[in-house]
Amino acid sequence: MTGKLIYAGVALDRVAVARRDDTWIAERLADPEARIVPVWRDFNLIAANAGAGGTPGAVLIAAAEAGQVLAAAAEVAILGLENATAYFAADLSGLDEAAAGRLADGGEFRDLRQVGALMRGPEAALLAYARGLMYWHRRHRFCGVCGEPTDSQYGGHVRRCRNAAEPHEHFPRTDPAVIMLVTHDDLDGGGPAALLGRQSRWPDGMYSTLAGFVEPGESLEEAVAREVREETGVAVADVRYQASQPWPFPSSLMLGFRARAVTTGIDVDQRELQDARWFRPGEVRAFGEWGTAPPGAKRLPRKDSIARWLVEGWLAEVGA
Ligand SMILES: [Zn+2]
Repeated sequence: MTGKLIYAGVALDRVAVARRDDTWIAERLADPEARIVPVWRDFNLIAANAGAGGTPGAVLIAAAEAGQVLAAAAEVAILGLENATAYFAADLSGLDEAAAGRLADGGEFRDLRQVGALMRGPEAALLAYARGLMYWHRRHRFCGVCGEPTDSQYGGHVRRCRNAAEPHEHFPRTDPAVIMLVTHDDLDGGGPAALLGRQSRWPDGMYSTLAGFVEPGESLEEAVAREVREETGVAVADVRYQASQPWPFPSSLMLGFRARAVTTGIDVDQRELQDARWFRPGEVRAFGEWGTAPPGAKRLPRKDSIARWLVEGWLAEVGA
């Protein structure tokens, strides 16, 4: 299986060593050519004409013109370097909507998931990175060990608490989640089938791969088998890693797997899923598309998701 997953592929050197030097960071930020990536709550700054049929673009503000944005930002973190140009995320979440809008520089703050699949890949990845890092800052303003306030360090890649006796350091969190397409090569003698489910909170008619968070003391393969068993009662074997996708909505890393069903009877856990079924390839190909599917039609998850990528990989593999 091939194919680039959106939100991966940030085209920056993350400068993990250099960003420990505050003087170096200040010099990068003083460069008028540096680029500022504004984030407001769960929204990124997108060119206002996005959606008019063109490719939506990120609004990146040159540091020379970003004085007001930087002054209003609760956090500024270096994202990395593209050649000699530094990129910084700036968190404007403390502003109300009107005040944030006044700093929007001709763009508008939008949910990346509404436009990400249409953007150039490295730009979608840059915005996802900025959004995820700023979300972590907003959620870690106090130390989980001693309760003292924390301050950003190392260019925004560490938070250290003010505990004078023993300062605690906290690093950006990414929560591993497994997402898996369970297949059967010859279900009931009728050829291949895939196990898809739906949660009641999902859009009407949407069926997708199963997924769940990895628990402490558990391997990824064990998490896949446990989640499938818990949600559907199906036992799996041959759990095989496929690809991963940053999913900062708000803070996950999706780890994509295929697994082979060794039992076929479905017993849905209604606390987790509303429904789960086996689907033949032809049934999945007949699913509708987002925005155009008639009411009541089944449809696949959004095109920006690894769930969709896993399903399309299977469809390509089983052929017409
Ligand atoms: Zn502490």
